[in-house]
Amino acid sequence: MSKVSDDTVITGTGVVPGVRYAEAVWIRPRPALPTSGPVVEAGEREAEYERFTTAADTVAERLSSRSEAADGAAKEVLNATAGMVRDRGWRKAVNKNIKSGHPAEYAVVAATTKFISMFEAAGGVMAERVTDLRDIRDRVIAELRGEEEPGLPQVNGEVVLFADDLSPADTAALDTNHFVALVTELGGPTSHTAIIARQLNVPCIVAVGSALNDIKAGDKVLVDGALGTITLNSDPEIAVAAVAESKLLAERIAQWRGPAETKDGHRVQLLANVQDGNAARIASDTQAEGIGLFRTEMCFLSALEEPSVDEQAEVYKKVLERFPNSKVVVRSLDAGSDKPVAFATMADEMNPALGVRGLRVARANEPLLTRQLDAIAKAVKELGRDENAPTWVMAPMVATAREAKWFAGLCAERGLVAGAMIEVPAAALMADKIMPHLDFVSIGTNDLTQYTMAADRMSPQLAYLTDPWQPAVLRLIQHTCEEGKRTNTAVGVCGEAAADPLLACVLAGLGVNSLSSASTAIAGVGAQLSAIDFDTCVKAAEAAINAEGATEARQKVRDILQP
Ligand code: PEP
Ligand code: MG
Repeated sequence: MSKVSDDTVITGTGVVPGVRYAEAVWIRPRPALPTSGPVVEAGEREAEYERFTTAADTVAERLSSRSEAADGAAKEVLNATAGMVRDRGWRKAVNKNIKSGHPAEYAVVAATTKFISMFEAAGGVMAERVTDLRDIRDRVIAELRGEEEPGLPQVNGEVVLFADDLSPADTAALDTNHFVALVTELGGPTSHTAIIARQLNVPCIVAVGSALNDIKAGDKVLVDGALGTITLNSDPEIAVAAVAESKLLAERIAQWRGPAETKDGHRVQLLANVQDGNAARIASDTQAEGIGLFRTEMCFLSALEEPSVDEQAEVYKKVLERFPNSKVVVRSLDAGSDKPVAFATMADEMNPALGVRGLRVARANEPLLTRQLDAIAKAVKELGRDENAPTWVMAPMVATAREAKWFAGLCAERGLVAGAMIEVPAAALMADKIMPHLDFVSIGTNDLTQYTMAADRMSPQLAYLTDPWQPAVLRLIQHTCEEGKRTNTAVGVCGEAAADPLLACVLAGLGVNSLSSASTAIAGVGAQLSAIDFDTCVKAAEAAINAEGATEARQKVRDILQP
């Protein structure tokens, strides 16, 4: 985003890139919630429940008919919301409250609160569904009171829509000719708002927090969905130019077709990071040339016991079969630390990020690893994959040559191509000793940055350190690439750094052969690479390596690549 004058910048998590400049509008307020109410006489409780079911049925039918008119993710989301209004468990909880004498409005609030606590306690994806619960509660209460349905306001012209959270139903009904960007106080990168915003390709920022309340209806705001910034009081001329630039870039990205190469024909393979068959299906609709990181542990986060070899093979096949003629890099279980897997995580470690995680788990439990390798080999065999559809297997958290040799040996016994992630600084520094045991390495910039900078990747306070633009991290990548060239070992990058178009050019300039990222980021990276020569990538890499810090590196590279 360009510079602005006398600005106030509020930051959230950008989930759909794009710059827009328009007036803010707030979503129509939710109905005030009743705290309790007069007791409903025993003889009237049945009729009270009837009143509730009529209102709930009306809301469900309205949502279903919107679902019929929609398509893609919007259709699914509206259908799912209608399903929640029809949910027997929820209705039963409402009925129980009515039976004990509460009026329908309060019975709905109390029943929904109970479900919200349960969902929040479950955490993760379940916690993000809390928005859906609040939404059905509010719609049914408004219907019971004969009030206007809460949600999208009527607008003329272009506006940026602000909300504490957007309900799936509202997001699905969005007319993007009017609502040109979305900003929410709550939500997360996997919330429904984010999913549908991606489908609609409307710039979107979520999880801004309470600072969002500083924005008033009618304020002119500049929203940057890539940086996750909302700027008040920007210079209108600069803001309009930033929007035009962003639209031009979006067009170039939409038109970009792989395989990726620089203007002068230097190839860089662009691959997708996936965690299951569904993500692989989505990736197969993009320009991804294959899969560069299949995070197998993500398939087993809710498994209490280790799945059998046959069961695991079926899970892996769901990913492999989406790329029947391309490379797929499968990572062996990276359990522990931020990815707890019940059957493979050490209990009660003082410092799990520095503890028994990744390949280290298998030192005391080799059969866990060999069963996984057996399952991968079985999936490969049953799908008839060969050198035209190579399946590579890599170990996470390798720190020593001995670990690399051990892993490679186990892979060789099963005819699998072996590699390692370079995400521990020791592995980067010892690349000359590690690489001779392997066919490839893939640099995990997320952990490599965390361990190089001694800064927890989950800490919002340390985000200035956990930045892959840190020259210290780039120097370790440079060293790894040099050793890769010397030992003829393929070097890829599969951390978030590979999703940043400017940093991707730096990585290519350092000698990285492949970049693997969320599949939505691939076209942006490909379009950026196609706009410059390889020499410029090398220059950008030199500038970044020699910068004093991450901010300076970013600025210097921006000046070189986007003068
Ligand atoms: C990484 O560390 O960069 C990586 C790709 O692995 P994960 O994010 O799954 O730890
Ligand atoms: Mg990692």
